Amino acid sequence: DVSHELRTPLAAIRGYAETLLDGALEDQDNNRKFLEIILSHAIRLNNIASDLLVLSELDSDAPPLAPPERIRVIDVIDSAVHTVEGGAALRGIRLKREQCQDCSVMGYRFRLEQALVNLLDNAVKFNRPDGEVNIECIPASDARVQISVSDTGIGIPSEDMKRIFERFYRADKARSRPAGGTGLGLPIVKEVVERMGGTVSAESQLGGGSKFTIVLKEA
Ligand code: ADP
Repeated sequence: DVSHELRTPLAAIRGYAETLLDGALEDQDNNRKFLEIILSHAIRLNNIASDLLVLSELDSDAPPLAPPERIRVIDVIDSAVHTVEGGAALRGIRLKREQCQDCSVMGYRFRLEQALVNLLDNAVKFNRPDGEVNIECIPASDARVQISVSDTGIGIPSEDMKRIFERFYRADKARSRPAGGTGLGLPIVKEVVERMGGTVSAESQLGGGSKFTIVLKEA
């Protein structure tokens, strides 16, 4: 899977660079466009490499450098929202925190933040202009905390739902490709949450938005 995913952007970078050197550099109508294609594939390779690094760190059973700590979820939500708000504003998407109660969980703050950024990033990326994203944090039964990210976006076809947490899986590739994803965002969320002893689930309706819910033990 990995080599297949790397081959496409590498072949494109090599192909367009060779085309430019073979004379297209002087072709004023196309030279800029070819460089932009090279850049977009280089960015994609970079995204794949950094997501793979996160996953290989999560996969390795090396003990983390520090013990897990008590994390206030609301603080992590604030930082994650801060990370995606520029992109959301560019697309005209409102980020809301309608119900965020003060709950704490045990784990690694930077990892939980990464998981929330991935969910928020998808909720923005697969939304519609003028859409909304809502993030919620509420206490749940059995001393658990429920964090959910819901959007008013394009939704996920039901036949893809059981595979979206698989590595490199992109629902409806034609639709997802322009969004430039790696297919590694949700696998990272799942890995992070399961390593914290929790679960992640998804509900979605094609054309009717999606909701991702993380449940963790309260600390
Ligand atoms: P990607 O890098 O493509 O976003 P992910 O692993 O994060 O990879 O997501 C896998 C696929 O699940 C996406 O390509 C997309 O088809 C679908 N998906 C994830 N989140 C959403 C969402 N909020 N709305 C619609 N589709 C989504």
